[in-house]
Amino acid sequence: MDNIFGLSVPELEARCGALHIPAYRAGQIAEWMYRRSADSFEAMTNLPKKLRALLPSVFSISRAECVERWDSADGCTSKFLLRFVDGVTVETVLMRQPYGNSVCVSTQAGCAMGCAFCASTLHGVTRNLTTGEMLAEVLFIDEMLRDGGQKVDTMVLMGSGEPMMNYDNVLAFLRLVHAKYCLNMGYRNITISTSGIVPGIGRLEREGLPITLSISLHAASDALRSELMPINRKYPLREVVAAGKAYGEHTKRRVTYEYILIRGVNDSKKDAEALSSLLRGQLASVNLIPINPVRERNWERPSKERVNRFLAMLEEYHITATVRREMGSDIQAACGQLRNQHIAESAGFD
Ligand code: SF4
Repeated sequence: MDNIFGLSVPELEARCGALHIPAYRAGQIAEWMYRRSADSFEAMTNLPKKLRALLPSVFSISRAECVERWDSADGCTSKFLLRFVDGVTVETVLMRQPYGNSVCVSTQAGCAMGCAFCASTLHGVTRNLTTGEMLAEVLFIDEMLRDGGQKVDTMVLMGSGEPMMNYDNVLAFLRLVHAKYCLNMGYRNITISTSGIVPGIGRLEREGLPITLSISLHAASDALRSELMPINRKYPLREVVAAGKAYGEHTKRRVTYEYILIRGVNDSKKDAEALSSLLRGQLASVNLIPINPVRERNWERPSKERVNRFLAMLEEYHITATVRREMGSDIQAACGQLRNQHIAESAGFD
């Protein structure tokens, strides 16, 4: 069965055309699926009865099913484990920020990048998510919020997976989210996070979309970064930062560099100096993230004083930096941790 959830209107028009269905029906079907939460053709009451009877014999509308939900004690973060039709699960997070509702989207089930601090990569990558599956993540949360008169305002592609390794599906997903018949979300409200896939950054730059780029740096020397993020052996620091600089200059969007602070590993004065000299003169800001202890690894979070000292050192070197507001650590909001727990529990060895 051809799953049409996640197709754009032109793609739906092509599917309709092949069945001699008038093209304008494609817009109606899209409106029902993406704006009116329809998960069956029967619900599409402005389509002729005959058509409503025909469509389910050729197409399906497959979304995501929520199998678990966790809410942080402060009520600001909710995490959902969503399951797709083949049984693959991913995590999607809703963060209620002061500036609106933000959704953290997974782009792959698992991840192949092997970052040493990340739980998403412990079981490798299962597969890429389709355009429709990424859309199902966001719409699941948007529909839930709509019941309370709210909506998804911003989106970060920072869940499990490396978006640049699933580039075509990710781009189609972003264009869909931006479309008026879907979420009508401005590109400026979207952030893509990458571990530093240089060709992907270049490709995104050439799209000419004002999407915010976030690059996970986490170290200011190649030796340490290669240890924390094996992808650094392929795309070393200087190339990654140069790609980020070019992206910022071309799109006029400030690039964010993510820097997880790990006690005694990358939080010294020397690290702050090296990071500052790497980013000097660039339209950039640094997002410091004191590490969420990952039970499978042995990293410790620096004290508040150490975090503030690192921040002050960057500011001294005129690097714009902030410390990320901690959200949902009581529900293990760090990417991949809940999915791993679920995998372990299903396998009976937790
Ligand atoms: S941090 Fe991101 S790129 Fe690295 S392993 Fe985790 S999900 Fe993959």
